[in-house]
Amino acid sequence: MPETHEIIIVGAGLSGLSAAHFLRNGAPGLDILILEQDGRPGGAVRSFKEQGYLAEWGPHGFLDNNPASRALLGETGLDRIAQKAPLGSFVRYVCHQGRLAQLPQKPPALLTTPLLSPLGKLRLLGDLFKKPRLEEQSVGQWAAYRFGAEILPLVDAAITGTFAGDYERISIDAVMPGVRALEKEAGSVLKGLLKKKKGAQGGMLPAMTSFPQGMEQLITTLAAGANITYHSPVRAINRVNDAWEIHAEATTYRAATVILALPVNRTLGLLASHAPPLAEIPTARIATVALGFTGKAQVPFGFGYLAPEREKRFAMGALFSTHMFPGRAPKGGVLMEGLVGGRRHPERLELSDGELVSRIYDDLRQLIPLPEPPCFSRVLRGDSGIPQLEMGYPALLAWKDSLERNLDGLHLCGFGWEGIGMNDMMKTAKTVADRILHRVGVKRQAPEVRPVYF
Ligand SMILES: Cc1cc2nc3c(=O)[nH]c(=O)nc-3n(C[C@H](O)[C@H](O)[C@H](O)COP(=O)(O)OP(=O)(O)OC[C@H]3O[C@@H](n4cnc5c(N)ncnc54)[C@H](O)[C@@H]3O)c2cc1C
Repeated sequence: MPETHEIIIVGAGLSGLSAAHFLRNGAPGLDILILEQDGRPGGAVRSFKEQGYLAEWGPHGFLDNNPASRALLGETGLDRIAQKAPLGSFVRYVCHQGRLAQLPQKPPALLTTPLLSPLGKLRLLGDLFKKPRLEEQSVGQWAAYRFGAEILPLVDAAITGTFAGDYERISIDAVMPGVRALEKEAGSVLKGLLKKKKGAQGGMLPAMTSFPQGMEQLITTLAAGANITYHSPVRAINRVNDAWEIHAEATTYRAATVILALPVNRTLGLLASHAPPLAEIPTARIATVALGFTGKAQVPFGFGYLAPEREKRFAMGALFSTHMFPGRAPKGGVLMEGLVGGRRHPERLELSDGELVSRIYDDLRQLIPLPEPPCFSRVLRGDSGIPQLEMGYPALLAWKDSLERNLDGLHLCGFGWEGIGMNDMMKTAKTVADRILHRVGVKRQAPEVRPVYF
């Protein structure tokens, strides 16, 4: 006989754990089981600690401007210990002609940045006169058409920093649907933003958020209150009468409600028999190279830097970890985390740890005064690839909505559905939990225009 639960969640990553939290919070008596293939929770979220250094295999932080994640932190008490690095007082850098230059934090700063020529700045206003092109476009095509080609290195840096992706392939309709809607409605992005200014825009910039024990502290807190069966990879799910049968490694489970909280490609694999076969979406893997230095390293104040492809650098960028979140290196020391690989350079991940460390160090010391080689180094190679929301993605999202509408009791959230960031995961997990708790039908919310995207 199958083991029966009210709700089964497949995947104990951030999405699955958040969905379980919001469900328990809304209805404390619910019988929820999470099935996880691994022996640990967290999926892509994993912190590294050694010799007084604290680095990350996966995410380093998320912005504190999302109501769902704010609710989750408040309800778990994590808001009391969260570490914050406000965007308003920190700067981000971009590699420009072989040097680090400050990245404009808000759109108006584009008009004063030395990164654009006077003509390039004037061309930004060309947006006011460009008719919206309705067809799906890549971020690169869209930005060049609306704001001119000079903006492209900055756009490249933003897409590299968020998706480890290629701005010529990522779909603007997938990553900034709110801005696209505004553009189509008002006839131009700037006109739309000006109209909206009193509403969504303005106010303080958000802060990058982490925890004293790293991002994994969020996971261990959420997992502590959850009922999780580890080493249980789900192989198939089938509709049997009015419920779902979930076939895991050794056991068959039954539940009226199932949440697949998995990366897009894993979901597509499990649902292959329920829908016309869909092609997997590309993913981008990166390695984090943690480098510890003595206090002699003169790391500029800020979050870190990003390198557009045209700069031809080895690293996609680096995080100035001890500036963002102090205490991540032994006393007086400095930690930087270089990022390598991504959609454009998967071949770099084939290099040995020693080669990666020396290539990243060579790259960094051309940009930052580093009088001594690193006194600590570790290469962190995560298993998770970042889903790439490339051209065709909006059609996949429409498929997801229709599937959820037609298959009663089945809910989807997870890495690559509705975005790729931690805030996106917590928000979608909350939407799914609310839908289950209040039996609300599947309805897509109006896309938001966020004050900070990347
Ligand atoms: C290198 C990297 C850097 C990132 N940096 C940032 C950042 O700085 N800021 C930010 O906001 N976001 C960042 N992200 C994104 C963030 O990590 C994700 O949004 C989030 O972790 C996704 O959580 P998830 O639970 O949806 O998916 P996952 O973390 O992939 O979790 C899915 C879980 O399901 C399990 N599973 C898979 N298949 C099965 C199966 N068949 N049966 C049972 N269990 C299964 C997996 O083992 C895993 O535990 C980064 C991601 C990566 C990879």
